[in-house]
Amino acid sequence: MKEYEEIKELVKKSGSILIAGHIMPDGDCISSVLSAGVGFERLGKKVLMIVDDEIPWYYYEFPDVARIRTADALPDFDYDLIVVLDASTPDRVGRVQKVLGTKTTVVMDHHGTNTMFGDVNLVIPTIGSTAQLVFMLNKKLGVHYDPLLATYNFMGIATDTGFFRYSNADLKVFEDAAELVGFGARPNDISNAILENRLPEELKLFADVVANMKLECDGMLAYSYVSREMFEKYGLPDHSASGFVSELRAMKGVEVAILFTERSDGSIHASMRSKKMFDLREVAVRFGGGGHPQAAGFSVKGRTLSQVIDEVIPYVVKQLKKAAARGGLL
Ligand code: 5GP
Ligand code: MN
Repeated sequence: MKEYEEIKELVKKSGSILIAGHIMPDGDCISSVLSAGVGFERLGKKVLMIVDDEIPWYYYEFPDVARIRTADALPDFDYDLIVVLDASTPDRVGRVQKVLGTKTTVVMDHHGTNTMFGDVNLVIPTIGSTAQLVFMLNKKLGVHYDPLLATYNFMGIATDTGFFRYSNADLKVFEDAAELVGFGARPNDISNAILENRLPEELKLFADVVANMKLECDGMLAYSYVSREMFEKYGLPDHSASGFVSELRAMKGVEVAILFTERSDGSIHASMRSKKMFDLREVAVRFGGGGHPQAAGFSVKGRTLSQVIDEVIPYVVKQLKKAAARGGLL
């Protein structure tokens, strides 16, 4: 694709590069930022890696995560190029949004809902993870891969495919993952850090989420919520609820699962997952967000948790009934 060549040339001619992931960072975001950051440094570039949000504590098991800064670090860094990773809309980069376009801006992403807000947009919705786009770019640039960089790069492929379980786990995913294992990536380090690291309080919070769960549409829709009170009961941060929605989807008969969380900034985030027959993107975009067919989300400001639930659930019920009536798998 011509975008790879354009981005390769832009990186080559830039001395210092600002790399930004998205708020509410997930494994693919962090993996992509680290892989680009460490990769470009190996070409002699100066880089600043930014994620303008709190990074879940367990990612700090990977040493370079401690080098990722918030947008507070922006004023002290001069850069020739901006590379935005895994973000489908400009608001997803937090306060980095203010500087987008002040220098040539590259967007690399795999969300079909991407609004193409860069000067160069490498957006491939059919690829399992943004980390794979970074892997391809790094190889084209001649970046040297050792076990550490390979592990960073593997992480996004693993997490965005649900550790190789989701429908996006295709041949390319397995090929790229295998190539990274060939470079020394340690998949077990990643699953230990991310999957085998739950705090007791998180499990207790999850028990409360299950207790609050409601089912609609003959059990095809499962939803629940985490209020401020619930987070505070266990002294947990916003991101501690991030894996719960997949557990709701994992129930027999459930086609769509939604978890609403009341975040510390007062906004309400809806995290949505579907199995096969329902494409979540329309709902996500309708409420101001985006995502993938089977994993999407949005945030709403200025409304209470119950107001958002009362608005979203009837709409999803209606759309889900229509989809079920069509009997259509995606
Ligand atoms: P999660 O449910 O884990 O927050 O997000 C699932 C997917 O939806 C991710 O691919 C994420 O990028 C996307 N997503 C979640 N929230 C938002 C949002 O507020 N805006 C946009 N554009 N995408 C979102
Ligand atoms: Mn991703």
